[in-house]
Amino acid sequence: MNFNRRGFLKSSALGAAGAIISSSALGNPLAKQRQNLPVITRKLGKTGLELPIVSFGVMRSDNANLIRSALEMGYVHFDSAYSYMGGRNEQMLGEVFKEYPRDSFVISTKVQADGIDRRTGALGPGSTKEAFLAKFEESLGRLQMDYVDIFYFHQPPNREVVLAPQYLEALNEIKKQGKARFVGLSTHSNEPEVIQAAIDSNVYDIVLVGYNFKHQRAGEIKEKIALAAQKGLGIIGMKPMAGAFMDQERQHPINCKAALKWVLQDPNVHTTIPGITTFEMLTENFSVMENLELTEEEKNHLEEAKLVAGLYCGGCDDCTHQCKKHLPVHEIMRAFMYAYGYRDYDHAYAVLEEYNLSSSPCADCNECVVKCPKGILVADRIASVSKLRELPRNMLV
Ligand code: SF4
Ligand code: SF4
Repeated sequence: MNFNRRGFLKSSALGAAGAIISSSALGNPLAKQRQNLPVITRKLGKTGLELPIVSFGVMRSDNANLIRSALEMGYVHFDSAYSYMGGRNEQMLGEVFKEYPRDSFVISTKVQADGIDRRTGALGPGSTKEAFLAKFEESLGRLQMDYVDIFYFHQPPNREVVLAPQYLEALNEIKKQGKARFVGLSTHSNEPEVIQAAIDSNVYDIVLVGYNFKHQRAGEIKEKIALAAQKGLGIIGMKPMAGAFMDQERQHPINCKAALKWVLQDPNVHTTIPGITTFEMLTENFSVMENLELTEEEKNHLEEAKLVAGLYCGGCDDCTHQCKKHLPVHEIMRAFMYAYGYRDYDHAYAVLEEYNLSSSPCADCNECVVKCPKGILVADRIASVSKLRELPRNMLV
């Protein structure tokens, strides 16, 4: 690699915009097209890390050559998790990254804590520091690394869990031992409360938050991340594509460049991790940094897309309390998006399993009383995605 990625990471000295010269690429013709493209960087809060504003969400990618091409193209930060692809995601990254100097990339991973009742958010007997640390060590092993750059507590549901002493102790210990340079949390529900708790903790360095133009609580999240950024936390945006498609048949895609620009127009978002699975997406997402201004056509598209229910549920969480059976409707809608927007059936299954849902959660309920402000017919979507639970999970990976 000759664009001096290591120097880039070490110096963190590029201004608002710099230029990355790609090397000869690793046989990917698309990577070769990316030479001399502008890269906009932002500082990740008090961590001091300066990252390109477009990073790589690896969640659904198992293609090692895509990662190699991304590195050559100028992607620096790669985001995985303990749970992605049943652990194969981290393993794949470990195999690729051992070919590269450790200080030439930034890697993050996440661990979800055991023993938390996902429906109530209550801590149970299994929610121990030891169990959490054991999963983290497993992640390090799969990645074949001594440390990760960012380690996230994955999806703590509420303030009590964010601030639970056993997890704060674990995070402090991980940092003290040098096994993570920075620690953070990820959230895509109950975001304002969770982010405020992260601010109050004085432990978390970074917040990874679901944030996009279709989010029903985008205004509240915007305010909260502004506060977090002001307090020195690094802010990373996820789910910027809002489900990627407007319809289950995937005939009407969301303009991904426009959606990504929308998130990045918020200066408090320091980088984003759109999920990338193809060389085309790799190139298209990177090209957003050529110009962050939304064209009139893009603005119109986003306005129209906002009016369509689409595959992304707006996350207002106004449904569970309406549901006669108190189903975690918002989370089931997330599973629906993974299944039909991303064709990631394993991830969809994992969400359903996490909430211990059957293949027909609405059985015995003769009338759906949930009124979604976005007009989503939740009972139909629940029936559709829950059928996955009839299949053995290993058929879906
Ligand atoms: S399904 Fe509708 S009501 Fe429920 S969280 Fe999503 S947007 Fe809100
Ligand atoms: S049909 Fe399903 S989502 Fe609607 S109220 Fe009944 S149990 Fe809840």
